[in-house]
Amino acid sequence: MDTIQFENEEIIEVVNSEAETESPSCSEESESCYQHLRQTGLQICTEDYPGQFNFDFFLDSTEISKKHWMYSAVFNKVYIDMNRVLPIQFQWKFDDIGLLGLKTLQIRALPIFANSEFQQLSIKRCPIHIMQDKLCDRKKLEHILWCEQSDAIYEQNHMSQKHSVIAIVHNSVPCSDFKTYNVLYKFMCKSSCSMSLSRRPIYVIFTLETLHGQVLGRKKISVKVCSCPRRDMLKEEEIEKKRINGVKAFNKRTTLIEDSEIPEKIPKTNSDNTEEKIYELPTLPIRGKHLYLSTLELLHGHFLGSAVREDRLIDSHPLISMLSDLISQVKSENNNHNNKADLENQLTQTN
Ligand SMILES: [Zn+2]
Repeated sequence: MDTIQFENEEIIEVVNSEAETESPSCSEESESCYQHLRQTGLQICTEDYPGQFNFDFFLDSTEISKKHWMYSAVFNKVYIDMNRVLPIQFQWKFDDIGLLGLKTLQIRALPIFANSEFQQLSIKRCPIHIMQDKLCDRKKLEHILWCEQSDAIYEQNHMSQKHSVIAIVHNSVPCSDFKTYNVLYKFMCKSSCSMSLSRRPIYVIFTLETLHGQVLGRKKISVKVCSCPRRDMLKEEEIEKKRINGVKAFNKRTTLIEDSEIPEKIPKTNSDNTEEKIYELPTLPIRGKHLYLSTLELLHGHFLGSAVREDRLIDSHPLISMLSDLISQVKSENNNHNNKADLENQLTQTN
């Protein structure tokens, strides 16, 4: 085997013999030497990495049936019904790969939980859906992601227990400088399945790999498996739109206050007459002068701020001035007490 030093300091072993290239099993020694670069081990890398070969993939949006799957560019997310085909077109620069003598490559698809707190967990199908397919190929029974290629390899990493499915790349089509390769996938549990995804969001991480499992490129996509992909996508995008508008409105309001401009008084509608109603606080016993004073100061600041914001200084003046008087009264009591204590101290010292 030769080695080639990459710009990014990673080392790829170039396999010279066709026989070695075609053998999917490798020796224990090479197994362990590639362990740190594997995609299914304990440490999962989720960062997109086009690598030297510009690995990428596309979903053919003209194929969207409007029923079985949808793609949201806002979230880079696929919404798909269970047991429906998702066609993905992978692409990479083939000239460089050819020059390196890497004759056979594979594409791995690894579903993982999107939230980092769950990423150490393996994802497998729920017992109900496993039971429904108990007569199918045992190798893929527990896998949530199935590949429609007949020689797909279903793997479970012995360290992380993570399930992934591998499509061996056959006769990929050169398209200008790039090779494209189409793979069909199906999701075999819903996002709502308890004892499986349990409504937790997932990514599928696709990696272009050598037959030894060394990663040459990586790209992920978010996935939700649901009965109404179109409805769920529109709903989530609408919530996101409202959230962004809410943040914009909040920022605008903060800027106005920072610029000492008083925002426009919000017009009151007829149905909004609770805003004109007078409420009375119940008697509120407070133990201790310190807490009483801080409560008065808090209320004073609150009413003053609210009066300025809503342009109601004249209406609120009696309440604000009453609180201000009470604060002065408590403070003067403090001063009187301190003065009295000082006087007593002086008298003691004199005696
Ligand atoms: Zn299920």
